[in-house]
Amino acid sequence: MGPGSPKMDFSFMPSRLLEWYAAAARDLPWRLRIPNPYLTLVSEIMLQQTRVETVKPYYTRFIAELPDLPALAGVSEEKLLKLWEGLGYYSRARNLQKAAQAVMREHHGEIPAEREQLLKLPGIGEYTAGAVASIAFGRPEPAVDGNVLRVCARLLNSRHDIADPAFHKAVRKHLQRVYPEGKCSEFTQSIMELGAMVCLPGNPRCMECPLRDKCAGFKAGTAPALPVKKAPAARKIVTLTVFLLRSEQGRIALRKRPGKGILAGLWEYPSVPGRLSRGEALAWLNARTLKPLRFRKTAPHRHVFTHLEWHMAGWFALCLEESPEWVWATPEECRTRYSLPGAFKGFQSDWMTEK
Ligand code: SF4
Repeated sequence: MGPGSPKMDFSFMPSRLLEWYAAAARDLPWRLRIPNPYLTLVSEIMLQQTRVETVKPYYTRFIAELPDLPALAGVSEEKLLKLWEGLGYYSRARNLQKAAQAVMREHHGEIPAEREQLLKLPGIGEYTAGAVASIAFGRPEPAVDGNVLRVCARLLNSRHDIADPAFHKAVRKHLQRVYPEGKCSEFTQSIMELGAMVCLPGNPRCMECPLRDKCAGFKAGTAPALPVKKAPAARKIVTLTVFLLRSEQGRIALRKRPGKGILAGLWEYPSVPGRLSRGEALAWLNARTLKPLRFRKTAPHRHVFTHLEWHMAGWFALCLEESPEWVWATPEECRTRYSLPGAFKGFQSDWMTEK
């Protein structure tokens, strides 16, 4: 951190936050009386860039199906992705399994407690390593994510860009100094909870905050405008034409996406880049010897990824034949077997309700 940066002293945090957390903590399925590193790892990976309420049912189902590390290490990719379907960022699921396999192979099936060892596992970065080491193993390792950076930037009334790795590093270092012995797990969770429930992004609830009288951002009246974050780069727009093809037997055409790139290896409706006119879409079907009995445009859908937006036009066709180019799946198979990413979910009502 450069000259003029506020002095980082977080020594007031543990006692206040621990007392507050004991009374205010939400009852979440992954908050355990008996620590379980596997369950902490699964929940922390699922919670990355995903809201708590969204994660809850996924976590419960995932744990019911894959209750321990050997089960995760050995599950088929098809089933793994089906369990993750709709949660997005599918590389998290694949990396989670790779991490489980590495633990089985290199650590006799025991998730390591040391941050440095955790960092060597696939898909485990600084945040997750800190979360697992502190929450599951009681180590004094901060788990610094956007929530924690926001709380700290406001406490310090800092206008430093929180995306700057130097700020991140300094916060981690100074938080680590104040970790309370025997209460590391609760301390990590209490900061996360404060960020999620009180020190909210646009509208902090300072009057409910146990740190208020120590908060420079509150005193200066600047808290709602903090933290400072560089504006993200504009997302790239990609247009697609999606074909919702249903055969007379009631089956739906699906194909597997390439093994690399966005939504790698997941199932999708056939699509082509760009926006096809009615004539072009019909020509595309005819080139595959598909003679639509009925053919119509569907409502368009848009899906936003982190750096990308898909703007999708759709054509529904009821087909006489089932082209061997694709898998033709029943609605039941679509539900139970083939993992279709959330990007295409908006189209589902179209082919499901069409008579
Ligand atoms: Fe956040 Fe307000 Fe608490 Fe400061 S007083 S930490 S801005 S909620």
